[in-house]
Amino acid sequence: MEMKETMYGQYGGTFLPELLMPVVHRVAEAFERVRDDETFCQRLDGLLTDYAGRRTPLFLAENLSKRLGGPKIYLKREDLCHTGSHKINNVLGQLLLARTMGYSRVIAETGAGQHGVATATAAALLNLSCTIYMGEEDVARQSLNVYRMKLLGAVVVPVSSGSRTLKDATNEAIRSWAACAEDTFYAIGSVVGPHPYPAMVTHFQSVIGKEAREQIFEKEGRLPDAALACVGGGSNAAGLFTAFLDDPVDLYGAEAGGEGLDTDRHGAALSRGTAGIFQGMRTLILQDDVGNIQPAHSVSAGLDYPGVGPLHAHLKDTGRAVYEAVTDREAMEAYELLARTEGIIPALESAHALGLAGRISHRFSPEDILLICLSGRGDKDTLRFQEEGGRDHE
Ligand SMILES: *Cc1c(COP(=O)(O)O)cnc(C)c1O
Repeated sequence: MEMKETMYGQYGGTFLPELLMPVVHRVAEAFERVRDDETFCQRLDGLLTDYAGRRTPLFLAENLSKRLGGPKIYLKREDLCHTGSHKINNVLGQLLLARTMGYSRVIAETGAGQHGVATATAAALLNLSCTIYMGEEDVARQSLNVYRMKLLGAVVVPVSSGSRTLKDATNEAIRSWAACAEDTFYAIGSVVGPHPYPAMVTHFQSVIGKEAREQIFEKEGRLPDAALACVGGGSNAAGLFTAFLDDPVDLYGAEAGGEGLDTDRHGAALSRGTAGIFQGMRTLILQDDVGNIQPAHSVSAGLDYPGVGPLHAHLKDTGRAVYEAVTDREAMEAYELLARTEGIIPALESAHALGLAGRISHRFSPEDILLICLSGRGDKDTLRFQEEGGRDHE
């Protein structure tokens, strides 16, 4: 599949105010120039290795495999990246591009603060001034991440419109971008937004799948039978899936089932969304009959988003990938199970992929191999786990 395209089937594209069209065109041109440029790639590889901690391990989770009673389960350990998740891969790429283009300032949206922290981190490293837009509700809920961003030198702007969460922070970031695009680069945190962002973020995250493919060949001498990842906007999944698109490997995405698909409290844009225009792209979104965006819900802030990257909407339509909704409850069970069996506390986002593995493992035999992207670490989620009625571990 050609990933340089503007459209993914009927999804993607560029739907922005006129004012921003030349701005994203400049980003698209610059990205095409650097993606295969030797100097840029060497610089980025160096940062990914020496700063972010790549390549991340591929770990055979033997205890979990036994417990689930099916296939061998391998975990791609993105939780071991600097700042605790895969987000740093993308941010280092985009901010290095921003430097290359001569920008002195970067803005970003953030939900729980993970993309905000990663952006503030890379901005400190690359000497860019940094402003992060964050919904007031999230600022209140995620005070530790707000503190981290400020410590890293970023300005955090609380957004008070709408539901005062990620969707509103993104709208505000796009609005303010239009006013300051002269000197400011917009770093988007997932495979969403107008072209070239979905393609660019997929490219910067494709290091996950590239490494995992090499590692599974080193360890097993063959391809996995299936690859699984959680899907918020869909960047860790895109980064894993792209390495296997042309191979006989089943691809599974786990989206936020929240309190169940028969309630209105979930974030399952692939299972329950309809096509529409949202935040610069055409994709599947949770909306009512007249196109009002419906608030998403998930126990994990990173999956709490009413849209999804256009690549995934297309992979769903073509049947190349299968997406299933995993509930809050299933994710919390998987969170605890991985902690108990392997001594690894996963992010609640990643726990959705683990929950899906538990659900489908009976379809596989003990010789089969499942490759799961463990997108982040779960220290950030321990309080949430307790609040949501997870067992008290005194
Ligand atoms: C942000 C985040 C996600 C969701 O984002 P994607 O773009 O879907 O990958 C998943 N896991 C972790 C740990 C995150 O921080």
